[in-house]
Amino acid sequence: MSQQQTETRDTAGAQNVDPEEIAKFEALASRWWDRNSEFRPLHDINPLRANFIDQHSPVGGKRLVDVGCGGGILAEAMAQRGASVTGIDMGEAPLAVARIHQLESGVEVDYRQSTAESLAESEPGAFDVVCCLEMLEHVPDPASVVAACAELARPGGSLYFSTINRNPKAFAFAIVGAEYLLKLLPAGTHEYSKFIKPSELAGWIRDAGLLLRETTGLTYNPLTKHYRLHPTDVSVNYMLRAEKPL
Ligand code: SAH
Repeated sequence: MSQQQTETRDTAGAQNVDPEEIAKFEALASRWWDRNSEFRPLHDINPLRANFIDQHSPVGGKRLVDVGCGGGILAEAMAQRGASVTGIDMGEAPLAVARIHQLESGVEVDYRQSTAESLAESEPGAFDVVCCLEMLEHVPDPASVVAACAELARPGGSLYFSTINRNPKAFAFAIVGAEYLLKLLPAGTHEYSKFIKPSELAGWIRDAGLLLRETTGLTYNPLTKHYRLHPTDVSVNYMLRAEKPL
């Protein structure tokens, strides 16, 4: 391997970014706000997760960071609920779409191209609420993102993580069902091996010095095409709520 390749790999490793993952989202970015596009599932689950966050951590007047914000679906929803929102992502195209969309919607969000790890270095403890939704399954080292999120939160702050469980049912629903049968998502959107068991995520949360407060499932009924929060069924999509000790 040449010196340059080594450096490129090391830099990517140091930044905890998978360029292939970023490229996938860059390619789709123009359709981010099209509810009938590949991003439909994110639009469909958005009110559920935004309300869940706002109910547990009323966000009005609070500083919130959305890690891996993409085109800004959650970031705008939280800003609409009164939060002062910073949205970070490593994809240039999703951020460009997010910036254009806020001009149309009039909802203000501060979008920046950054990893969680580098924002944690420049703004440790700056945020009352840290959200990292549907992102951990796209990074090489998700535990490092969780640790960076813990650094971003102020003592007493709240953190929200969501991802996809790793078991045969999650494979059937999130990959075979969503990507191949129902074609909700493009084939290749998710890689089974990167899915995360709730116990693994809970371990990283503990290792980051956070307190796990709540686990909730997010279930999809393919017949009614409805999602709902389910307090116990974490078999496919799920969300964890944590707190940084005072
Ligand atoms: N959180 C948003 C978007 C989820 S899609 C939502 O739930 O609506 C995953 C996003 O994570 C993509 O926009 C992708 O560009 C971003 N991403 C992937 N790896 C990243 C990294 N290491 N740092 C920051 N963003 C990343």
